[in-house]
Amino acid sequence: MSYVDEVIERVERENPNEPEFHQAVREVLDSIRPVVDANEAAYRRDALLERLVNPERQIKFRVPWIDDKGDVQVNTGYRVQFNSAIGPYKGGLRLHPSVNIGIIKFLGFEQIFKNSLTGLPIGGGKGGSDFNPKGKSDREIMAFCQSFMSELCKYIGADTDVPAGDIGTGAREIGYMFGQYKKLRGLFEGVLTGKGLSYGGSLARTEATGYGLLYLTDEMLKKNGKDIKGKTVVVSGSGNVAIYAVEKAQQLGAKVVTVSDSNGWVYDPDGIDVAALKEIKEVKRQRLTEYKNYRPNSEYHEGKGVWSIKADIALPCATQNELELDDAKTLVKNGVIAVAEGANMPTTADATKYLQENGVLFAPGKAANAGGVATSALEMSQNSERLSWSFEKVDSKLKDIMVNLFDNIDDAAKRYGFPGNYVVGANIAGFEKVVDAMNAQGIV
Ligand code: NDP
Repeated sequence: MSYVDEVIERVERENPNEPEFHQAVREVLDSIRPVVDANEAAYRRDALLERLVNPERQIKFRVPWIDDKGDVQVNTGYRVQFNSAIGPYKGGLRLHPSVNIGIIKFLGFEQIFKNSLTGLPIGGGKGGSDFNPKGKSDREIMAFCQSFMSELCKYIGADTDVPAGDIGTGAREIGYMFGQYKKLRGLFEGVLTGKGLSYGGSLARTEATGYGLLYLTDEMLKKNGKDIKGKTVVVSGSGNVAIYAVEKAQQLGAKVVTVSDSNGWVYDPDGIDVAALKEIKEVKRQRLTEYKNYRPNSEYHEGKGVWSIKADIALPCATQNELELDDAKTLVKNGVIAVAEGANMPTTADATKYLQENGVLFAPGKAANAGGVATSALEMSQNSERLSWSFEKVDSKLKDIMVNLFDNIDDAAKRYGFPGNYVVGANIAGFEKVVDAMNAQGIV
């Protein structure tokens, strides 16, 4: 059995009931086979892959908090510090009832390669809790965030581990967590990113993941002789990534016709009204059913359905495994030319394969949504030098990072004989740098 297959089998055996983690490990290890095969003896000797798939540390803790009725609630908190070969652990905090250790490990593992691809000095980590922020009062959110940080603060710091937002963790939650960290540790430092502008946040961080997704998609299309201008785009999700993906796609001349949330989806044949979407989601924190009040010509449908709309480009920006094989078949039948992942692992493995086999340009999340973490690293730089850069400066650095990132994954795919396969290109390019650093630092 090959070294790669041995390690995949071991991961599955030793980490039962973690299907998302298995899926992420399989995808990465499968596509770095050419590199592993070329170095098999040395990698085996150093147990390189075993060290890569085992987190340096995983922390699980109790999060008790008091709800508005005076009852005590208990959630579980996690932080997985996966790999610090190239820099302090960096990765978001997910607050969603589906969170468990397997999901956090899948996200942390992906984060290692994504962070490496940005070209910036950040290692991989991820955290979160099974807390459900939906329907909670502001006071309850604060109570949870303070309790969560009371424990987490022992393990993080500006030079060790710098968490950020993710599903369910936006500017409000980061603010409450930062306040609690400062109170307990007595340190005003860049320990979290995604902070408000008045206390060390970076301009353009809010927009970064969605904008970065479009900079990379634009570059991928250009390098393949196509143009985003005039194209029809379907987007899933209506959170941070989706909103700014819609905004930038429209700025680049495309027409976005869908968004969704976990209850249903909107089809707006005239193009999504971003101002209305922001008002509903960012200001009023309402459901997408409200969108029709702003745009009477739009349609709202319950359930899942954005992939059934005819489009040139599909941008899944909600959650993992939301674009399945049947969706991929519908997209291909409708003539889609590109799929770029705004969310983490939104496309199932068989759907990805189907899209690639049918000539669809496919940009995996670890490359396509790396703009968020890249800009978080720029926030860390600004915090270190105690300066704030202009929106234009951050946005222009973000654009450069995404264009370079695309060139690197394109180049890695070609070097190993898989031209146009950006999944292979991203995994190999991300892996090469991490392995180089791990080798240089010895068996640790
Ligand atoms: P938000 O919480 O702001 O938005 C998430 C969106 O996805 C909401 O519309 C939500 O709907 C929907 N959603 C969440 N879970 C599900 C589900 N199980 N089924 C259907 N819809 C769902 O999160 P973000 O926009 O920040 O994150 C979206 C994705 O992008 C995630 O995969 C995240 O890991 C990834 N990502 C985010 C980055 C960032 O900077 N924010 C950076 C890189 C990746 P509802 O409101 O109904 O829950």
